[in-house]
Amino acid sequence: MILAAAAVLAAVVSLPFLWQKPAEPYGGGVAEARFFDVGQGDAAMFLWADGAILIDAGTNASQYDLVGYIENLGIDEIDCAVFTHPHEDHIGGADCVLEEFDVGAVIMPDIVSDSITYASMTECIDEEGCPVYEAASGGVYKFGDVTLTVLSPAEEFGDANLDSAVVMIEYADVSFLFMADCEREAELAALEKMGKDAFDCDVIKIGHHGSYTSTSDELLAAATPDIAVISCGEDNEYGHPHRETMEKLEDLGIEIYRTDEDGTVVIATDGETVWRSK
Ligand SMILES: [Zn+2]
Repeated sequence: MILAAAAVLAAVVSLPFLWQKPAEPYGGGVAEARFFDVGQGDAAMFLWADGAILIDAGTNASQYDLVGYIENLGIDEIDCAVFTHPHEDHIGGADCVLEEFDVGAVIMPDIVSDSITYASMTECIDEEGCPVYEAASGGVYKFGDVTLTVLSPAEEFGDANLDSAVVMIEYADVSFLFMADCEREAELAALEKMGKDAFDCDVIKIGHHGSYTSTSDELLAAATPDIAVISCGEDNEYGHPHRETMEKLEDLGIEIYRTDEDGTVVIATDGETVWRSK
């Protein structure tokens, strides 16, 4: 089912970087990342004039909420869905999303799960008939004005969190880093392979719902984000986000938003700067 991304990569790599700053960024509007309130899970979407990329699909319990959020944005087509790893809090709504929307491509790591949620997702991917690309560090995908680069996994750890797909989305001069449930060990491996500059971003979706096992000092030193978003459920059983992570972000003066306190968080950009939108 997983297809090698080599063909796409060859096409991408051979293209010159054609993006030119428009007179009016984003056709007079802005692009935005939406971090949906899906309780204790992850679901985010990057939207711009010509497209939409979904990064994770929340939990089984939040699947109809997620579909509603996306429908309310007036979206029928999703250029690409990244399913970062097959845990239920990230792919719970994947089957519904694939059924309700026209999904152009799927990017996900080569991790198999024996869960019903995973089986339901793969069945819906098969029905969708879209290409499926294996997430591996160094993979680059172009969607009009947006470039998606896979930064991790850099090696195979045999653990779903460590093998999560970490992606950078770049739009003009700004970049959004989606850390999935990646943890320190995999962060360091990806930094080693991709280099620190590859992680430099304006906005970061904090890894693993703010767990202390993620967001290493090394990662933050490379990422230097202005804004951090934490996706977690109110009063969740894991105590996410952990105090250690919050203190690190606060000490660095990073603006922090949390879906458990702020609901769905929208970060907008004109291609030069980023700001919280409503
Ligand atoms: Zn998770």
